[in-house]
Amino acid sequence: DGLAELDARVSVCRACPRLVRWREQVADVKRASYAHETYWGRPIPGWGPPTARILIVGLAPAANGANRTGRIFTGDRSGDWLFASLHRVGLARLPTSTHADDGQELIDTRMVATVRCAPPQNKPTVAERDTCAPWIVAELGLLAEHVEVVVALGGFGWDAALRSYAALGWDVVRPKPHFGHGAEARLAGDGREITLLGCYHPSQQNTFTGKLTEAMLDGVLGRAADLARA
Ligand code: SF4
Repeated sequence: DGLAELDARVSVCRACPRLVRWREQVADVKRASYAHETYWGRPIPGWGPPTARILIVGLAPAANGANRTGRIFTGDRSGDWLFASLHRVGLARLPTSTHADDGQELIDTRMVATVRCAPPQNKPTVAERDTCAPWIVAELGLLAEHVEVVVALGGFGWDAALRSYAALGWDVVRPKPHFGHGAEARLAGDGREITLLGCYHPSQQNTFTGKLTEAMLDGVLGRAADLARA
């Protein structure tokens, strides 16, 4: 189907020289604690059922997380927070996500990264963001028939969701809705409407400092589950 073909095409993309170098160098050198593992070292495709009503839009894979395990948000601290919360609100089968064949399953939820290769310091350049944009736009287009709620992680995910829907010809509200934790915006296009929900990114920068608590994360993901089931 279209999604499987898209996943296959993105998984061999080499359009950003700096990111290709970084993802492969990290995969080659490896963190000492994962020395016995074979890193994925390639772009990370979306993951979750193709008919999901909830779509989570993240930033980019972690060098020793998804870039190692090959599955989005799997094997890093942000993912630990995200999957635990998804499990608490009924959107993931297990509370943890450690490796690609751990039995985890997303329920009515799909996750995508805006930039699909691990960037140094978790910071893609604007040029890299723009080079990767056609992949997320294509994926949102393929998922559009089912998606009702988009959870944007951080301002980067929020802007990426707005830009991607605008690229698909949707009416993206002007002035641009402001990102915030718990922010909501309605977007319309192709005879459909979705709710865009803002959520602080579960990065260690936010979870260590208490800017994002488990209750806050559960609040937004629980809201997404309620909206999708309504
Ligand atoms: Fe390709 Fe995106 Fe990776 Fe750049 S970041 S190499 S566009 S998959």
